Amino acid sequence: MTKALQAAGGKPWRPGKMSTVLVAVLMTMPPLVVIFSGRIGDQAMWIKTAVDGIRGGTDDDVSFMKHPTTSHDKLLGGLLVDGFDQESCHSRYQSAAYRRNAGRRPSEHLVSKLRRHEDLQRRCGPGTAAYSAAVEQLKSGKSPAAAEASPEACRYLVSISYRGLGNRILAAASAFLYAMLTDRVLLVDPSNEMGELFCEPFAGTTWLLPPEFPLVGYQGFYLHTAERYGKMREDRVLRPDGGEAAAAAPPPAFAYIHLDYNQTDYDKLFFCDEDQRLLSSIQWLVMRTDSYIVPGLFLVDAFQDELAALFPERDAVFHHLGRYLFHPTNHVWGLVTRYYRGHLAWARRRVGIQVRVSSWEWESPEILRTITSCTQDEGLLPRVLDDTDQEPPATAAASARRGLRPSAVVITSLKSWYYEKMKGMYWERATESGEVVVFDQPSHEEQQMYGVRAHERKAWAEMYLLSTTDVLVTTGKSTFGYVAQGLGGLTPWVLPRREVNGTAPPCRRDMSMEPCFHVAPLYDCKRWEDAGKIVPHVRHCHDMPAGLKLVDRTEW
Ligand code: GDP
Repeated sequence: MTKALQAAGGKPWRPGKMSTVLVAVLMTMPPLVVIFSGRIGDQAMWIKTAVDGIRGGTDDDVSFMKHPTTSHDKLLGGLLVDGFDQESCHSRYQSAAYRRNAGRRPSEHLVSKLRRHEDLQRRCGPGTAAYSAAVEQLKSGKSPAAAEASPEACRYLVSISYRGLGNRILAAASAFLYAMLTDRVLLVDPSNEMGELFCEPFAGTTWLLPPEFPLVGYQGFYLHTAERYGKMREDRVLRPDGGEAAAAAPPPAFAYIHLDYNQTDYDKLFFCDEDQRLLSSIQWLVMRTDSYIVPGLFLVDAFQDELAALFPERDAVFHHLGRYLFHPTNHVWGLVTRYYRGHLAWARRRVGIQVRVSSWEWESPEILRTITSCTQDEGLLPRVLDDTDQEPPATAAASARRGLRPSAVVITSLKSWYYEKMKGMYWERATESGEVVVFDQPSHEEQQMYGVRAHERKAWAEMYLLSTTDVLVTTGKSTFGYVAQGLGGLTPWVLPRREVNGTAPPCRRDMSMEPCFHVAPLYDCKRWEDAGKIVPHVRHCHDMPAGLKLVDRTEW
């Protein structure tokens, strides 16, 4: 067993037989039992026989699984509800069939909270009387005063979508958790393909903000916006200790929450208890963040008990939120499943490598060395022999003759150079074990593009494909990699983000599969202390030391 499989709590393949139409030649494939990482104990292991056999089927037909996933698996342990129209979103109920790692089990509390929240989204979402009333209220310029607010009145959180796809996914997931914690309806800004890449997560309603939303230009809200919460706090327009005059005045109709990289200390008051009380009286909030602000929510006293009940495993927050919210639409799902069937399904082992490079690193021998040593030293891939003339030892040749199935590596990158080098290395030289490793890269888009639908679809499909692998190598600080690791339930090995003119240190296994909150608050509002040292389950990230991330174990 390799070091990596041991680390993942994995088991070696059991021999057996199956056939596949993925290749013209029939090949022998063993049934697979994966025991994935997890603590032994209450929430511990969730064992799944994920792929027992593969036979023919259409692209959208998971009957190609000999033993289709059970209803329990299909619904991800109750995270998803049955009853959605399957044709409009094939991925929703098929995704479990494409993962060997069944993932963590959601807590019962999370499952019931999700069902209650779905009711709220349906009761208050676009097209309802409650939504129309709230829009009228917004136009009036004031939130209803506490005394006037009807028990039926709904409150809303609008999440602005901007920057790269990984940023947008983390922002929407964060907004959703905040909406759940505060009983607000989440409405997502549909721009930047958010309405095109993802299926609707809530049955019987939409999470997309309707085009006739009256706050014209809300996507341009920024530091200058008069209704910015941090600004209103700084100017003392809003005060938690507002006194009688403030208490008598109705709260503003909306506030803009600015949590971009250049947020001020006043904006960061968002993560304080008394500010959360103040915010609760404002009917509409519009939030801008490109970050995973969830670790910051763990700093708010008022949320802590609920968060602990929702997520007894603190390192699985995005894992659950991501699998609940983000289902690729049918076109994207076609990209995922065609690649998966052609390049990954047959493999003995699947390895994902995300190489996120900037223009000065497009062909960096140094980064290539780091990738090679990371994958070989950590036992993720077999070592290659030193020179091209060397033959593998007799034992390795014998195991190759026995028909050991190849491992498959999916590399994602904007450039093809790293893929070409790795593929060449494993073709031109034998491995010490005699094992064959097949490399492939779904696309190389050359540069990051904005507003290009085909580009966005590929990015989403590639994040998703990385999440279907058995082991994952990501690039530090990349939200693209964070999404893949969280969806896959994979704690990655992280390639350092090289400094310009610097050297690349070795890769490192991450503390948890949670994304890092890059621009986290430093203090918990009362103590001006380092939150990464004093709040349980919140630690500084390896890849971004100023950032914060959730970990399950407290001793990190
Ligand atoms: P981050 O910048 O690494 O945090 O990730 P983002 O996803 O937020 O933004 C990077 C964007 O660049 C992606 O959304 C894609 O548009 C593009 N991109 C970066 N790396 C890749 C890749 O490996 N494959 C594809 N298809 N697109 C990529």
